[in-house]
Amino acid sequence: MAREGVAPDRTGPLPLHLGDVLQLKKPHPCGSDRWTVLRVGADLRLRCEGCGRIVLVGRAQIERRVRRLFPVDGGPL
Ligand SMILES: [Zn+2]
Repeated sequence: MAREGVAPDRTGPLPLHLGDVLQLKKPHPCGSDRWTVLRVGADLRLRCEGCGRIVLVGRAQIERRVRRLFPVDGGPL
């Protein structure tokens, strides 16, 4: 079964884990809209799946931009 991801329609913090993949509403200039979570904290370290660029972004900022979440273990949130 294809992994459809999970739309973050809940309130409160996203249950993010290392290795999760986030699909953001606005794509990176390279064309990819998927980012792998490398570090979780007050700031998130994300790696662009398209070009490999690594960015550090405030968690609140990311949570407003997430379209879908692909949990690393494929399990439910
Ligand atoms: Zn990129």
